[in-house]
Amino acid sequence: MIEVNDLTKAYGDTVVLDGLNFGVDSGEIFAVVGPSGAGKSTLAQCINLLERPTSGSVVVNGEDLTRLSHKQLRVARRRIGTVFQSSSLLSRRTAAENIALPLEYLGVTKGEATRRVQELLDRVGLTERADAYPFQLSGGQRQRVGIARALALRPAVLLSDEATSGLDPHTTSSVVSLLRELRDDLNLAIVFITHEMNTVLEIADSVARLDRGRIVESGRLVDLLTDH
Ligand code: ADP
Ligand code: ADP
Repeated sequence: MIEVNDLTKAYGDTVVLDGLNFGVDSGEIFAVVGPSGAGKSTLAQCINLLERPTSGSVVVNGEDLTRLSHKQLRVARRRIGTVFQSSSLLSRRTAAENIALPLEYLGVTKGEATRRVQELLDRVGLTERADAYPFQLSGGQRQRVGIARALALRPAVLLSDEATSGLDPHTTSSVVSLLRELRDDLNLAIVFITHEMNTVLEIADSVARLDRGRIVESGRLVDLLTDH
């Protein structure tokens, strides 16, 4: 599971994230929703450790990732898999080869990598498309490849940074179903960052509403819906 404690990020005098607190359990989808400029992408970068918070901590399975050295961070980062908006696949590599990338960097043996890629393709329903290049895949299929790649190193936490943004409603629903299935099958803690409230209603167990760097409302989705 992942805990964000008193997370603050400032650029000079500009405070972009102001004392955020939340926790996401294994087997839970936690959505962070907010308008443009709220601080969502800064939060995503602090969670996947591309940015160092100014203060506060990001704790995964009991370990404070913000206190690690550069070298330790490279290992720790594997515990968090990230899916981006336009899944940033390498265009000259097939679906299978894209999923294999993190395993290659890690030096996993060829046989083990092949086995794991096949399992991941199967998990995201793309076994038949293993040898297709990104341009031959639909937007939804490309996001599935992005999800499989994010899972290649068996993370405890899956971070989705606007992963359904720009997809049509039908495709969004199919990606949402996949993420819910992965939440259950792999017991993942999923942090789902989006500006789309409709998608939050479809996917979230819990929600935080982010506005100008602060969480202005949070709780179980069912409770928030019945409170109003
Ligand atoms: P969102 O993803 O919700 O649109 P961002 O995290 O991109 O929000 O940005 C939140 C605020 O932080 C914005 O006002 C933006 O201008 C500011 N900001 C983001 N990155 C930087 C930076 N590197 N330096 C200064 N201000 C920044
Ligand atoms: P085992 O300990 O036998 O691998 P698990 O229930 O942990 O059993 O995993 C079942 C399968 O799911 C394994 O093949 C494993 O590779 C895969 N798996 C487990 N956790 C993750 C994860 N977080 N991300 C991706 N794949 C996973």
